[in-house]
Amino acid sequence: MNIKVERVSKTGQLPDESRLGFGRIFTDHMFNMDYTPESGWHNARIEPYSPIAMDPATMVLHYGQAIFEGLKAYRGGNGQILLFRPERNVARLNRSARIVCIPEMDEAFVLESIKRLVAVEADWVPGAPETSLYVRPTVIAMDPFLGVRPSHSYRFFIILSPVGAYYPEGFNPVKIWVTDKYVRAVRGGLGEAKTPANYAASLYGAEVAKKAGYTQVLWLDAVKQQYVEEVGTMNIFFVIDGKIVTPPLEGSILPGITRDSVLTLAKHWNLPTDERLISIDEVMKAHRDGSLQEMFGTGTAAVISPVSHLAWRDEVITVGDGGVGPMANRFYTAITDIQYGRVEDPFGWIVPVKLDQ
Ligand SMILES: *Cc1c(COP(=O)(O)O)cnc(C)c1O
Repeated sequence: MNIKVERVSKTGQLPDESRLGFGRIFTDHMFNMDYTPESGWHNARIEPYSPIAMDPATMVLHYGQAIFEGLKAYRGGNGQILLFRPERNVARLNRSARIVCIPEMDEAFVLESIKRLVAVEADWVPGAPETSLYVRPTVIAMDPFLGVRPSHSYRFFIILSPVGAYYPEGFNPVKIWVTDKYVRAVRGGLGEAKTPANYAASLYGAEVAKKAGYTQVLWLDAVKQQYVEEVGTMNIFFVIDGKIVTPPLEGSILPGITRDSVLTLAKHWNLPTDERLISIDEVMKAHRDGSLQEMFGTGTAAVISPVSHLAWRDEVITVGDGGVGPMANRFYTAITDIQYGRVEDPFGWIVPVKLDQ
């Protein structure tokens, strides 16, 4: 399929790179493509960024049939633009599509579309340390119809947002609130899909945590409220007695690409890893006997987010010395060094964007 390109007449300006924040600024162009049962996915185009006009009955607004992805384009030292494992995001987009009955897309074509759009907006990829261009592919149900069934028509779009350093002043460990009252996802549901419903489900618990003075919620499994699943919108890791432990992907946890990268690096470094169920009681016990060394979240936005405190029932514990552990540091440095092309990439994770494509 051909991608038509319609350029804006006057391009915007990249704002001050020291004050980008996250998700507030969008670039000049977006990618759009439509789906109908008759034509399949068609009319791929890059055009000026603009609002999407919708019938108020558009199904996505009523029934939430939508999926998205999140990845970043990084400015390498030599000015090159680099993507990190983008084929994983594209494969996950299709996996999410299957879960909420959205027609799948050709993965090579979606990757090509991301590259083309990033190439068109190359000037928007910031160059200051730890800044990047966030890429947000999204698919939404477009039938103007009231009634619960999968939509027949869809829109796929990609928007781009230059984002600042997540840790402008160095790592900032977070305080976490464990809840057995609210749940994010249950096996057999939508937990392993990147779909808006999961985020709607997480809002109330997150607000309660914020009011209590905590940054994020630690989600427990929805059946027994016992096993640790995710932290906020990140995957969760523990370092217990030198071993790197994370819950297994069994249906209610989002299969994070950063999670996979941490596990791959740990194995590459011959560190012991364990994907297994871990209960909140075990975490508290490991704290009491001194074997809980570190705890951190993983995700594209922050890469690694160290946890300093954990509140569970009447207890608040300090993880390690409440600072940033050596493992969190090591993974953060290794992953960001690969993302920004500062070191050799032994895993084939980096995909450069050619500017003349
Ligand atoms: C996106 C996401 C993650 C992290 O995935 P990455 O591919 O590492 O960015 C983890 N949990 C949830 C719920 C997510 O939405």
